[in-house]
Parts: sequence; C-alpha cells; structure tokens
Amino acid sequence: AKTSPLASASLPNVRWEDIGGLDSIRREIMDTVELPLRYPKLFEGSKRSGILLFGPPGIKRENLTGTGKTLCAKAVARECGLPFLSIKGPELLGSYVGESEANVRAAFDAARQAARDPPGCSTMSDAVAGSAKYSGAAILFFDELDSLAPRRGETGHGDGVMDRVVSTLLGELDNDGVGGDEPVRVIVIGATNRPDLLDPSLLRPGRFDRLLYLGPAKTRDHCLKILMAQTRKFKFEAGKEAREEVLMAAMESFPPTLSGADLSAVASGALMCGLKRVCKQVEEEMSRLNSEKKLSNAIEPDIGVD
Ligand code: ATP
Repeated sequence: AKTSPLASASLPNVRWEDIGGLDSIRREIMDTVELPLRYPKLFEGSKRSGILLFGPPGIKRENLTGTGKTLCAKAVARECGLPFLSIKGPELLGSYVGESEANVRAAFDAARQAARDPPGCSTMSDAVAGSAKYSGAAILFFDELDSLAPRRGETGHGDGVMDRVVSTLLGELDNDGVGGDEPVRVIVIGATNRPDLLDPSLLRPGRFDRLLYLGPAKTRDHCLKILMAQTRKFKFEAGKEAREEVLMAAMESFPPTLSGADLSAVASGALMCGLKRVCKQVEEEMSRLNSEKKLSNAIEPDIGVD
C-alpha cells in the first residue's frame, strides 16, 4: 500500500527567541496571522492573506539557502498555539492520473481536521505555557512551493497535470473558511527560493499576497544576532558578554555573507571551542590534583595494608 505524503500535524517547538536577526519579519508574520484570530469581528468580510516567504532569487547557491523560512513558519504556529502541517511541494506529486490534485485537496482536508481537533495543543502543559491561544485554525506550510505551482502552460508536461494541480491549489485557497456549520481556517504559508517560477495567479489578493524576503546575513552584527539566538541555551557560565566574545572569535575566519544554516555550523564550532576550553580546564585541574596527591604521598607514604 502507498503511504500518505502527509505528515501529521503537530505543535512545533520553535520560539521567536530561537530565531535571530529577523525582527521585522517576525512582526509582519505575527500581524498577518494573529490579528485576524485575535479580532475576528474586525476582519469579517475582508480578504484573507497567505504569506510567501522567499529566499534569495536565482539558482540555489551554497551559503544562500537555510535563511530561516521554515523556522519562522514554525515559530508563528508555536506562538499562536496553532497546529502546524508541513509539506514539501514535490511530495504531493503523484504518478497516477488525478493523484497530485487529490493530494493537494487531502493536504487542506488534513489541515482543516487539525484545526477542528488540534493534536496535543490542548494538553495541560501547553495551556499552562500559554501556547493554546487560538482555536479553529491551523497552519499549512508548503515548502518548495515553486515545484507545486509553476507557471501554467509552461511546465513542459504535455498532459497539463501541473496546470490542474495549480487550479486545484487556487480552488482550495479561495474556498478556505467558506461553508460548513463551523468553518475553520487554514492559514497558508509558502516558501520558495524561486518566486520567479511561481504561477502569478498565486500571488493575487487573498492567496499568497504577503511577500516576505529572508536573505542571508550580510553584516557581523546580523550574524551575531543569529548566533546569539542559536546558542541561547548553551550553558555558558562566564555570562552573555563572554558568549558574544567567543562567537565573534568563531566568526573571524568566515566570509561576511552567511545564511542562518551556515551560522549554525559556526555555533556548533563555538560550542566545540567552549567544550574544549572546559575540557582543558578539567584536565588542568585533574593534573593539579594528581600532582598534589603525589606530593602528599611522598610526604606521608602509604603504609597501610595492601
Ligand atoms: P531552505 O532554503 O533550504 O528551504 P529555510 O529557509 O527553510 O531553508 P530553515 O529550515 O528555516 O531554512 O533554517 C535551517 C537552519 O538554519 C535552522 O534549523 C537553523 O539552525 C538555522 N537558521 C536559519 N536562519 C536562522 C535564524 N535567523 N536564526 C537562527 N537560526 C537560523
């Protein structure tokens, strides 16, 4: 039997504090997602907005991917206490006639189901942590959206399958929250590094109409903010300033333009440095204790039983 391409919905474990250097993106995303949930009456009748997070346009290049798009989508779900369903565009493409379109519909159905019946979001610990904030909505995240929704008529598939997939996606976006006794909301967030490949109809109002660019960090200051966020849970007894110093030193040998993903390698490197330093201290302490012991043994030779 074929397994479903849909992962199950969950409450992600990413907080905004885990993300560095993206304050304005954070505000935009939170406003777009949270305000209509907080003030539903105010937003009644107005067009819904989907968000498109896009990375550096052009060919995927080393150092320019991993700029925090997935992290941001997860953080907004977490902070609003919404179930999160993540799908990579290509995973929905099937080989049978009509399979891809059915998979797109199934993704929205799964998100609606999660909005009605949030998995694990109503547990006591979440309620206490204040994360179970809103109900009746879920976040559906489409990674690599370009592979699911390329420009119609230009895909090179003679059978028009991709055109039908795009039409199905548009239909789902337009019908979201309409009908039913108790309509639930599916908040869509798309991510791509090739926004230029998308069918333009996807970007119309009410669809993916809030476009947010996430690029690599280009200044040391921006890099440092990301590194500080990534290492915030490191046990570093010498304090925040010392952590900053270690991170600055770890950055020295790196080029100035780095993505968040590259920086996580720097953070691990810094962690290793920190660990090595601790190991060295432990070793020094051990050899000091050993030599003290030897000395006291020499003064008071062990004359006990063997
Ligand atoms: P892709 O372009 O490959 O689809 P993406 O933009 O979705 O990637 P993420 O998955 O969000 O990238 O980030 C990859 C990793 O990079 C994260 O797990 C995290 O370790 C690190 N990272 C990226 N951006 C940031 C940031 N702003 N702050 C902290 N960590 C970051």
